[in-house]
Amino acid sequence: MSINVEIRRTDRTKSVAFEVRLPNTMIVSAPRRLPARAIQRLAEDRLDWAAKRLLFIEAAYGRHGLPKKFSGGETFSYLGRDSLLTVVVAAGSSRSQVVLTEDRLLVTIGAVPEEAQEERVKTALLKWYKSAARQCLEAAVERWSPVVGARPTAVKVRNQRRRWGSCSHNGSLNFNWRLVMAPAGILDYVVVHELCHLREPNHSARYWDLVSQVMPEHTDHRKWLKENAVLLEAFT
Ligand SMILES: [Zn+2]
Repeated sequence: MSINVEIRRTDRTKSVAFEVRLPNTMIVSAPRRLPARAIQRLAEDRLDWAAKRLLFIEAAYGRHGLPKKFSGGETFSYLGRDSLLTVVVAAGSSRSQVVLTEDRLLVTIGAVPEEAQEERVKTALLKWYKSAARQCLEAAVERWSPVVGARPTAVKVRNQRRRWGSCSHNGSLNFNWRLVMAPAGILDYVVVHELCHLREPNHSARYWDLVSQVMPEHTDHRKWLKENAVLLEAFT
């Protein structure tokens, strides 16, 4: 595998950071005052790591069929179950509609030029996913609040790029709508994780004791989230 190394100089960090991007790039962010030769050496030391990481991400992309083109025949996941996307173009109708059947995700769009179809399908699916996510997440919060013994001041569904969920200082919980693509147990875990933060703000030993009491199988769920973090790049 040949890897392109892209070096970015920045004043914002004091240390060197590495990141990979498909198909074959390693991005090195380095402080401006660090000599080029030193950066070169650090980058070389990281090439094996980058190659492994790129293969891992590529495999995860393959598993989830990413990036999506939003055209018929692709699979889309809802609560961990894959459905085949079927696009129906209905002349005479301008409103889009999404229906989930036993094995299909049926998206009906109005007649638009072919090059605009995929964008139209994406918009319809995004709206559908967000509304489904809201329902599932609110229901999960209702279910788990009494178990954890904490209730949020609000539940917000967000389009976060890097996180599955978070807990605000004012006691409201934020969740990534993409959780509705994951198996139901994973969505439940993220809800439990954030609800437990209402009682224990930090990831202290006491915090994890609480999570373990509520959901003993949480380590499997955390592993799944780590392995499937590329789902956060769906619809971007
Ligand atoms: Zn946390």
